Amino acid sequence: MSPRDIVLLVFGILAGACIGSFTNVVIHRLPRPLDEPNEFGDFWETNPWRTVLGGDSACAECGRKLTALDLIPVLSWLALRGRCRDCGSRIPAYHPFVELLVPALGVLAWWQVGWGWRLPLLWLLIPAGVAIAVIDLHTFIVPTRIVWPTFFVTVAAAVVVALVIGEPRYLLNGLFGILCLAGPLFVIWFVLPRGMGFGDVRLVTLLGWCVGFSSGRSYGNAASLSFLTLGAAAVLGLIIGIGALGARGRNAKVPFGPSLLLAGWTVMLMAPRITEALT
Ligand SMILES: [Zn+2]
Repeated sequence: MSPRDIVLLVFGILAGACIGSFTNVVIHRLPRPLDEPNEFGDFWETNPWRTVLGGDSACAECGRKLTALDLIPVLSWLALRGRCRDCGSRIPAYHPFVELLVPALGVLAWWQVGWGWRLPLLWLLIPAGVAIAVIDLHTFIVPTRIVWPTFFVTVAAAVVVALVIGEPRYLLNGLFGILCLAGPLFVIWFVLPRGMGFGDVRLVTLLGWCVGFSSGRSYGNAASLSFLTLGAAAVLGLIIGIGALGARGRNAKVPFGPSLLLAGWTVMLMAPRITEALT
């Protein structure tokens, strides 16, 4: 690595930690508990973005306003040993975890695909995917308020990338990815609406676009990567489900969103090697 690469890497990790810190704000403020289940049977709603982004950060227990010193990614949590400076209430461990995970995944993506045309969508999906996964694990909802904006941002980014590299056909593969990934889940949801939430169908629309676009030129590759994502997500979901049954008993409920996200992002990460092996 050249000195320039090392400087970029250090700045990238710092920027990633700050994006991770912002991801925590979204994870903490977006979901709102309901007193009774809504028409879809969910116990959670989401707050509008105005509420999520407005106002200073404060302790959830005592309302103490957090200063800049409390908001340094990872280090503040370690210095305070995971507790509020005033009231001593616990700050959940997902805070430093997310602040480390976001830059770590960012570096992993860059390391795997380099400064290539696949990098923008991989990067865009990291904070959005981490936020969706943690919220889904906690509340069993896939927040539409993150999924659709992320979808439109990835569509805009893909259009710019396709024009810059002169490969508009990659965009058709994005659409084909949606068909291959969201199509089967839509049918499953339609036949067995109790088995899966419609939130997962929206989520695979986003993932289908990103996986399809990342497959490059051939329709066959877009279909292969989409089905690989579905298969990997099903296997992951099964393993996590069996684990949860063992740990929490028969009524254990496991969200499918994190498995879909992990499978889709990993397939995008491996896309250069998988498509090379396929041809
Ligand atoms: Zn407090």
